Amino acid sequence: MNVRDSEQVAQQMVDGGYTVVAQEKQADVILYNTCSVRDMAEQRAIDRISSLRGLKKKNPRLIVGVMGCMAQSRKDELLEQLLDVDLVIGTQKFHETVGHIEHLQRARSSNLPQEKIVAVGEESGSQNTIKDHVLTPKQSSAFVSIMQGCNMHCTYCIVPSTRGEERSRPIAEIVTEVENLADRGIKEVTLLGQIVNLYGRHEFEKVDGQSPFVQLLRAVSSVPGINRVRFTSPHPIGFRKDLIEAIRDVPQLCEHVHLPLQSGSNRILNAMHRGYTAEKYLELVNQLRSNIPQVAISTDIIVGFPGETKEDFAASKAMIAAADFDQAFIFRYSPRRDTPAAEMSDQIDEEIKMTRNQELLAALDEVVARKSIKLVGTEQEILVEGESKNNLRRFQGRTRGNHLVMVEANERWRGELLPVRITETTGFTYYAVPVLAEFD
Ligand code: SAH
Ligand code: SF4
Repeated sequence: MNVRDSEQVAQQMVDGGYTVVAQEKQADVILYNTCSVRDMAEQRAIDRISSLRGLKKKNPRLIVGVMGCMAQSRKDELLEQLLDVDLVIGTQKFHETVGHIEHLQRARSSNLPQEKIVAVGEESGSQNTIKDHVLTPKQSSAFVSIMQGCNMHCTYCIVPSTRGEERSRPIAEIVTEVENLADRGIKEVTLLGQIVNLYGRHEFEKVDGQSPFVQLLRAVSSVPGINRVRFTSPHPIGFRKDLIEAIRDVPQLCEHVHLPLQSGSNRILNAMHRGYTAEKYLELVNQLRSNIPQVAISTDIIVGFPGETKEDFAASKAMIAAADFDQAFIFRYSPRRDTPAAEMSDQIDEEIKMTRNQELLAALDEVVARKSIKLVGTEQEILVEGESKNNLRRFQGRTRGNHLVMVEANERWRGELLPVRITETTGFTYYAVPVLAEFD
């Protein structure tokens, strides 16, 4: 979601006559978009911004802005903590960025006293402002933000306070955005929201037993030129039959569901305010697998939530094999400001969190090693993204199930859908050769 918001601001800056440069030292304006979900992300942003001291000394006209969740939660406090920051832009004010920068630049060129701006108010309709895209040549995949905010209030989570109330964009506007992307060569879109399956529940009606989200998925999938549609993240609550059937029946909808579990212990799930039990979660996983046999399921799990006992942790570990996950992201619980869990008395030691994190990763490796072997020898379609991060002689792409695949690089394949046969796996990475002679 932050990547997407940054793209929007970048496009706005370009429209405003600015140019994107490669390095901070060439820039007149530096904007940092920030995440607050875990403390580590905030610390990293603070370190990066603090390291601008030298640049700011050399170029007193340099404007430094902080945007996003950290800006939203810390507001003016950021100006006191980070003296080089000139501009603080909250999560509902991205569209004001250029205006504020122009104002600050005017003030600087007329040598007025150094002014600073903090824009962190609520803005109704701000969810409709994240809609423009800067695309790179041969880019084939894009994110589309369909809603903002979250009303769930999981007790560990800062998102409801940094992103505000849940609110959705109209289906027609999203479809127009996707049509424009398809015209510019995009083949795959990923619809983004905090709980995408609750999309539009306050704004739009069900039609023929289909939720607004399923209506949206079907509309986006029928846009000519769009071969693949993904979404992230759904919540196990409200993941109903109409959605399972859509994934099963709509050819463009990829067979991959990222379904955050958070914990395998019902006691902890309850304390987290998640609204489901481990049994309910497994029931949903089983329904997905029985309706969509090739579906890949990934998840998020938090270790070390306050009060998590050995038994609670064992229940999370047991879920990895029980749900037969294809991928999982494990997070150490990080206390966040103004959240109920941060105030709970029975906080867990960092060392225990680390051990539990390692233990879950080892359990995941085992399941994934067993599952990944089954893909070897199969034919898959990948969407080639471009060079592999580790080896420029290779291209990387994703299967419909979101498995990461490496093939030998060939410029003709960049941005294309390529049928391949999987030849090898290391667990999370696969190696493949193209199948069709026409791609030689
Ligand atoms: N809206 C999404 C999640 C957004 S945050 C959902 O509910 O599925 C992404 C992930 O960060 C969460 O799934 C959770 O596993 C993790 N997370 C959120 N708050 C956290 C915290 N305080 N400490 C550690 N991990 C956290
Ligand atoms: Fe945070 Fe829970 Fe909302 Fe996800 S559903 S954004 S974890 S409060």
